[in-house]
Amino acid sequence: MHSSLIGQVEKANRYARELDRVSFDEFSLTFRGDNDTHTVTLHAGQWRCTCHYFGSWGSCVHLLAIHKILGPMVPEEPPIESSYELQAVTA
Ligand SMILES: [Zn+2]
Repeated sequence: MHSSLIGQVEKANRYARELDRVSFDEFSLTFRGDNDTHTVTLHAGQWRCTCHYFGSWGSCVHLLAIHKILGPMVPEEPPIESSYELQAVTA
């Protein structure tokens, strides 16, 4: 392998471990929950989820899970920790 290509691969490997280098500006994904399938979107810094809980509370377990998966690569989530426990009881 060409030495400059090796350098690029090594750099990519380092970048891949430094998650704060990447930030999602917007996306849409399908989340298969235990009871139903939902669409989670990030657009113009605003989170949305099609689940009933998000409609009532402005946050939900799906957003919490996405943040646990993507970590520093996504913007701050809406306040969720206190309402999350309630959802866990009612879900
Ligand atoms: Zn949701």
